[in-house]
Amino acid sequence: MQREALRLRRQGKKIVLVPTMGALHEGHLSLARLARKCGDVVVVSIYVNPIQFGPKEDFAKYPRPFAKDRRLAISAGVDIIFAPKNLYAGDASTTISESFFSQGRCGAFRAGHFDGVTTVVAKLFNIVQPDVAIFGQKDAQQCDVLERMARDLNFPVRIVRAPIIRDENGVARSSRNAYLSAAEYQVAVHFAKTLKSAGSVAEAKRKLGKVPGLRLQYVEAANGQLCAAVFVGKTRLIDNVPLKK
Ligand code: AMP
Repeated sequence: MQREALRLRRQGKKIVLVPTMGALHEGHLSLARLARKCGDVVVVSIYVNPIQFGPKEDFAKYPRPFAKDRRLAISAGVDIIFAPKNLYAGDASTTISESFFSQGRCGAFRAGHFDGVTTVVAKLFNIVQPDVAIFGQKDAQQCDVLERMARDLNFPVRIVRAPIIRDENGVARSSRNAYLSAAEYQVAVHFAKTLKSAGSVAEAKRKLGKVPGLRLQYVEAANGQLCAAVFVGKTRLIDNVPLKK
């Protein structure tokens, strides 16, 4: 991949990278379509990055429907699917760590998660050599962390933040929605509606605390967003909305 990327760059081609963990849905595809408008060669990476999962998280059961992903990626106009089996040498001993935006919110509950994200994205930047990389606002804290990393480490990459894609009931699209039963999905609808209607952290906490079947992990205001994480059954969902002024 790196050899191909360097060859494309020598030809003056502008490479746009959309990093994903696969199980592609409309959220990912909107990023790929936006990527099409941002450069000449669209690369979607599909890699379930082991080092961003905690020991009790869902790495093993994370969905990996590669044949379907390939079809969807091609239909969205992707030029190259980069789907490595493994990105880490057995004795890899270097990580990248961002220490401001990675605190709080998901960082408070997922120890090591953002170090895993910054490390894999730095590796993907080196491998794919993108001029532009696109990330979704669905993972607002991840965007905050990666923008800071790219700035602090002088990656010659423009980071683009794409809007959240929701389904017809307002639920933020997520690969993890596939884990939800029909009843749990209704709780997810309630989560999205409640967060949207809340004007403050206190109001969101109070209202989300009352939703049956939902266990609140956090609500926090950060970088102009009202951000929340909840458990619906065993499934952890995150969402964010702009803070009302
Ligand atoms: P993931 O495969 O969950 O790691 O997501 C890959 C990229 O797609 C990340 O930049 C996510 O923020 C983005 N993404 C995931 N779901 C959505 C969504 N519903 N709307 C917009 N972007 C999304």
